[in-house]
Amino acid sequence: MKKVLSLVLAMLMLLGTLGLTACGASYNTVDDIKAEGKLVMYTEAGFAPYEFVYNNEIVGVDVEIMKAVAAKLGVELVIEDVLFDTITTSVGNGKADAGAAGITITAERAEEVDFSVPYTSTEQYIIVAADNADITNAEELKGKKIGVQQGTTSDFMVEGLISDGTLAGATLTPYDAPAVAAASIGKIDAVVTDKLTAQIIVDGSNGAYKTFPCVKADGSAVAEVEEYGVAVAKGNETLLAVINEVLEDLIAQGKIAEWESYYNDLAATVEE
Ligand code: GLN
Repeated sequence: MKKVLSLVLAMLMLLGTLGLTACGASYNTVDDIKAEGKLVMYTEAGFAPYEFVYNNEIVGVDVEIMKAVAAKLGVELVIEDVLFDTITTSVGNGKADAGAAGITITAERAEEVDFSVPYTSTEQYIIVAADNADITNAEELKGKKIGVQQGTTSDFMVEGLISDGTLAGATLTPYDAPAVAAASIGKIDAVVTDKLTAQIIVDGSNGAYKTFPCVKADGSAVAEVEEYGVAVAKGNETLLAVINEVLEDLIAQGKIAEWESYYNDLAATVEE
């Protein structure tokens, strides 16, 4: 009996090791990417100025960053537009080489993927109808109907404030993109999303909406400042090193800020 047990144990351990090896290898290293000639980026193209559709093409700050990475590797950049809340899982299991979608670096996500150096920062903003006089700060979201993009830091933050009682009686509705949520203002009272995205939605709304920081009445924060990073599969050190090198160059040259302003202006001409 003992012998059978130890045999079973040994087999289980072997299977475990094989399984781990298979998981660990399920991403493309820089050599694999060069051999395939393409770098696959997952994004959600409803998040101007970082990624949005312009003249039937996905453009924006994250696209510029990843084009620079692809150029450095000498490969073609392939962009897939997917639901935001699937990106880190797909990158984590190697379906995509990188996720670049204005993804806030968080401890939870860092369990699934590895993040590049941060390339910009943001904070949460509230969007309401231009004539809304009841909601002027985060505390006044109490009892209101709030829309967010599913699986984003806005979603998690509002959910946290509802469950800890800060926003007692508020309800939360998830949408596929911030602009889709904003289009529902009227049915819902407010949308919470990242700063630049909120400003672009409002700028393109012909005066229908307004936006302001998601802070308490006294101006104090309800959430931490957020930083965006590019995500790669856990352990994909060769790719992460190239992305970090490219990002550090772009940041030093002031390119990120330049693109944020360029795509901000461009997006304001296309958003409804
Ligand atoms: N920065 C936010 C997050 O990571 C929103 C990103 C997005 O909607 N594309 O959750």
